[in-house]
Amino acid sequence: MTMTSASIRRAFLDFFASKQHQIVPSSSLIPGNDATLLFTNAGMVQFKDVFLGQDLRSYNRAVSAQRCVRAGGKHNDLENVGYTARHHTFFEMLGNFSFGDYFKRDAIAYAWEFLTVVVKLPKEKLWVTVYETDDEAYDIWLKEVGVPAERIIRIGDNKGAPYASDNFWAMGDTGPCGPCTEIFYDHGEHIWGGPPGSPEEDGDRYIEIWNIVFMQFNRHADGRMENLPKPSVDTGMGLERIAAILQHVHSNYEIDTFVALIKAAAEATGATDLSDKSLRVVADHIRSCAFLIVDGVQPSNEGRGYVLRRIVRRAVRHGNKLGAKGAFFYKLVAALVAQMGEAYPELAEKQAVVEKILKLEEEQFGKTLERGLAILEEALAGLQGTELPGELVFKLYDTYGFPVDLTNDVARERNLTIDQAGFDAAMAEQRKRAQQASNFGADYNAAVTSSQQTTFTGYEHEFGNAQVVEILFE
Ligand code: ATP
Ligand code: MG
Ligand code: MG
Ligand code: MG
Repeated sequence: MTMTSASIRRAFLDFFASKQHQIVPSSSLIPGNDATLLFTNAGMVQFKDVFLGQDLRSYNRAVSAQRCVRAGGKHNDLENVGYTARHHTFFEMLGNFSFGDYFKRDAIAYAWEFLTVVVKLPKEKLWVTVYETDDEAYDIWLKEVGVPAERIIRIGDNKGAPYASDNFWAMGDTGPCGPCTEIFYDHGEHIWGGPPGSPEEDGDRYIEIWNIVFMQFNRHADGRMENLPKPSVDTGMGLERIAAILQHVHSNYEIDTFVALIKAAAEATGATDLSDKSLRVVADHIRSCAFLIVDGVQPSNEGRGYVLRRIVRRAVRHGNKLGAKGAFFYKLVAALVAQMGEAYPELAEKQAVVEKILKLEEEQFGKTLERGLAILEEALAGLQGTELPGELVFKLYDTYGFPVDLTNDVARERNLTIDQAGFDAAMAEQRKRAQQASNFGADYNAAVTSSQQTTFTGYEHEFGNAQVVEILFE
């Protein structure tokens, strides 16, 4: 079956509405109820208090298509973009939720019905995992759904640490937690990779599409696991990953939305090879950058704003590599609006503002980018060994506004690494100097208390006419 991304989103919401789920709109990328979280990174974020029983709603079943960003904090897929077929910094998570209502049996049956009846995936290409000790879920898959035992894999704890597993979810060190069951799709033997749990699982042959979490226990500080009186369900399926399957392509970057964005990026940069990895990076980054701005984030030197700035700069560097002359990134907003403006009217409404902010940011970085790149190239030409010296990484950062991840991205393209320890030492040195300077009045080393109140600390200094703050995640 071939379905557009928009029609898959619609089909998912409609299916769960037909199962008495309330359709709840996507919430902002800026979590309203969780000061510890950088960005909304899953559908359950807006329901956290409902799961905890602290927020009562008129419904106990919900369904949503949630915009998510994973580009910092605990879930960071920034480094995966351009390297895997399945990761984005921005993606949409389709999810159904039970707040103390249905549990394992229905959650599994609904997922299976959606995949094999509604969108008609071939059953023999689906694999499932369960948490090692979750016999209940295992038996539902085997005996009720009829998945053959060879395609049900039990996943245990990593390195023996209790409950540290891809198949065990926890809201935090204490509180709601429980086993997961995940559904994978086999894209075929022409693609490298092995089934989950195998040594080749990191390949892109078996792609995880749906994670179903059973919130079953309440974990106490002393490690005691108590059964929750009303267990709940939280699920998430990546829209782009299911779209790839239904559009008969392997990579998320080949689906309708991305084909359009990649085409726009090629036009804006003058690139001619549509399979260029940098086009994928740019197409990915315009989505996270535009939606972050829509949700109120502005490029800045701290917290969320600095994450946004880093993503923009990374996109600009890839655009430069593709041959862009002058600002190009902001030109992709129109193509994004054409793809996603209907599902997200707030994006269409703010198009002009998003373009303006991106253009300014791009132009500002453009001033130092070329010079920084020239210095980097020179250093690369004379490099002994395979590691970029920390001092060089620091100089690029300090003088030319190259975020460390950007330099690392360049290094990685040439199979080089960066000397992170050396960079940290140069940074500490700088901080010490700034501290001494502050004795003369200016307060350069004040801890950055960012608006999101996570434990960011940082320090500020100047390069060109811009202030830079490095953020240290603690
Ligand atoms: P993976 O193991 O592939 O990194 P995950 O286990 O980190 O995925 P979950 O946290 O379980 O992902 O999120 C639920 C679903 O959201 C995934 O099964 C996948 O379909 C989708 N998803 C997660 N991260 C991304 C991403 N960076 N880009 C696109 N889709 C994603
Ligand atoms: Mg992941
Ligand atoms: Mg996973
Ligand atoms: Mg998962």
